[in-house]
Amino acid sequence: MPLLEGKTALVMGVANRWSIAWAVAQAVVREGARLILTYQGERQKKTAEDLGASLKASKILPCDVGRDAEVAGLFDSLKQENVRLDVLVHSLAFANREDLERPFHETSRDGFSLALDVSAYSLVKVAHHAAPLMSEGGSVVTLTYLGSTRAVKNYNIMGVAKAALEASVRYLASELGPQGIRVNAISAGPIKTASARAVKDFSSMLAAVEQKAPLRKNTDPAEVGDAAVFLASHLARGITGEVLFVDGGYNIVGL
Ligand code: NAD
Repeated sequence: MPLLEGKTALVMGVANRWSIAWAVAQAVVREGARLILTYQGERQKKTAEDLGASLKASKILPCDVGRDAEVAGLFDSLKQENVRLDVLVHSLAFANREDLERPFHETSRDGFSLALDVSAYSLVKVAHHAAPLMSEGGSVVTLTYLGSTRAVKNYNIMGVAKAALEASVRYLASELGPQGIRVNAISAGPIKTASARAVKDFSSMLAAVEQKAPLRKNTDPAEVGDAAVFLASHLARGITGEVLFVDGGYNIVGL
């Protein structure tokens, strides 16, 4: 039996076919879930609608997580239609390009706030709104990166945002656990996506993983999709507040 049969999954963060959210969307549909997709705004609309239609998504809706009214509106519309949510995948982040290019100590106050707001606070906000719709329990999954705990060259403010995101995962898991809602993060190895290209010298990150990871290869987005299915499924019913690495083992390697 497919792992997510009878479940409804809301996947946030599809910008294009290279997005990790797209790999997750494909995996959850393969495992029998009903899919709801969200995209950031007008610029992503056509692509998200085309991709969503190809997976027979039941809804494809805009949601800019920087706007409280849009987040509230999204979940209100689902509530009005009596949607029971089982899975929420938060696969989005943002930092100003200049903050991923200049030295970290030159990060501006505004750039710091923006990265933390979009990349970390948004998880708190969407979990707050999604929890009441998870009436039979649920699974929240977000995407993080090793730069949360290591000073990865050029990852800068995004590393600080991912540290806040991972701490938020633990606080949310602790609070929502009694309602049967699990909250976990997947720490993916570097993958060539639109966001990743904003990180200066990203190709050297890919090369390092290929050379040093125990599996001697870069992360395939489909591997992240499958890990998200696992965390969303009954198989992971005992797991919450965790960061699961899907990076070919790169994080365990010493110098
Ligand atoms: P991507 O560019 O395809 O996706 C990022 C998404 O964030 C886009 O859909 C974008 O529209 C969305 N977004 C940005 N600001 C938003 C806002 N205000 N409201 C709503 N959506 C907004 O890149 P990706 O690599 O698929 O990124 C997905 C997640 O995976 C991010 O959290 C990223 O940090 C994380 N991640 C990526 C890598 C990698 O190497 N690509 C590695 C580990 C973790």
